[in-house]
Amino acid sequence: MGMRIVILGAGFGGLEMATTLSEALGERLEVTVIDKSDAFVFGYAKLDVMFGRVPAGAVRNPYADFVKPGVRLLRETVTGIDPVARRVTTDRGSHEGDILVIALGADYDVSATPGVTLGVNEFYSVAGAAHMAGVLPGFAGGDVVVGVCGAPYKCPPAPSECALMMHDYVAARGLGAATRITVVNPLPSPVPPSPEMSAAILKAFEARGIAFIPNVRVSAVDEAARMVTLSDGRVLPCDLFLGVPKNRAADVVVASGLTEDGWVMVDPHTLATQYPGVYAVGDLAATGVPKAGVYAEGAARTVAANIISQLRGEPQTARNPGAGSCYIEIGAGLIARIDVDFLSGPKPFGTFHGASVEMRRDKEHFGASRRARWFNR
Ligand SMILES: Cc1cc2nc3c(=O)[nH]c(=O)nc-3n(C[C@H](O)[C@H](O)[C@H](O)COP(=O)(O)OP(=O)(O)OC[C@H]3O[C@@H](n4cnc5c(N)ncnc54)[C@H](O)[C@@H]3O)c2cc1C
Repeated sequence: MGMRIVILGAGFGGLEMATTLSEALGERLEVTVIDKSDAFVFGYAKLDVMFGRVPAGAVRNPYADFVKPGVRLLRETVTGIDPVARRVTTDRGSHEGDILVIALGADYDVSATPGVTLGVNEFYSVAGAAHMAGVLPGFAGGDVVVGVCGAPYKCPPAPSECALMMHDYVAARGLGAATRITVVNPLPSPVPPSPEMSAAILKAFEARGIAFIPNVRVSAVDEAARMVTLSDGRVLPCDLFLGVPKNRAADVVVASGLTEDGWVMVDPHTLATQYPGVYAVGDLAATGVPKAGVYAEGAARTVAANIISQLRGEPQTARNPGAGSCYIEIGAGLIARIDVDFLSGPKPFGTFHGASVEMRRDKEHFGASRRARWFNR
């Protein structure tokens, strides 16, 4: 068939897309996946690294293990995207596809928030989480601010998880009485699509004395003065800032002309951009569903299914389900889950599964099943 498919980014979206295509068509396709890194790391693993549950080296899934018929994965950095010609330039050359899928995820815009430094006072990058793992043992108590610098951001429950895990961490070190934890979040509740999940989190916060400040973002951090400024002008004392940087599509994507307000414009149901044969899946696409791995996977499977139908001469009927499950660490070893379907009905519909120790097995299976599917591990 000789169709060339170029996938930019080997994260949740890119890995699932290449795997689905390979399973269906194998060597009959020419799939090129391009990623600047040498390994994939699950987003939630950053919290495990940060709180010293696992070393940073242990959560890497090397791309060398991603071996699929018909697929080659190249370690290159994308430096330019021409959506009209479906041509991509990288630090090593250029690639052209009959189909171009952009799955480069969300980047971090630390310049939007003075005082936030990538890899230092944020836990959303692997480097930041690893750095925090070195900082936390030296924390001797005080004011901790888990602060979100802009919405939308990846994995809406993650800042709440961070606060609850921080509570357990200081308690285990005997610093509970000397520590006050505050969560600052531009969202109106911890997880707006799920009132039950939000209520469970707020109840857990209340039980632990964690303060929650909704509807505002962190606008500046001054570590020397030990304070953070919020978008409504309030100033909070802060001895330790655990930040979520402002998220947006990477500069290379913005420069391609595909974005509006920092995100790639797509048809949420088909992930098609305004350019024929060019799709965007995952965190960088403006679909209206949360920025989380499960939703990136669903979007990737939709685009892959329609490419497979196209090649078989069948109608392209697959539609992005916008549905998935998110796990949240409630503290004390308990995990809760929400299943939310954003796109198939007239309005989002969610089911909340209360916190339990058993749910940890579910979460472990979530990671293990992807490791097996993508990396044969
Ligand atoms: C702390 C935290 C906890 C999370 N917890 C969960 C969770 O429990 N469940 C869940 O579903 N999601 C969770 N997420 C969110 C999840 O990680 C993301 O939503 C998901 O990874 C998005 O998939 P993606 O394919 O869009 O992008 P990504 O997985 O981010 O992949 C993008 C890829 O593009 C590559 N790339 C970027 N720029 C370039 C370039 N210029 N050239 C070449 N390659 C490039 C990157 O190296 C990366 O591999 C969490 C995220 C964080 C930060």
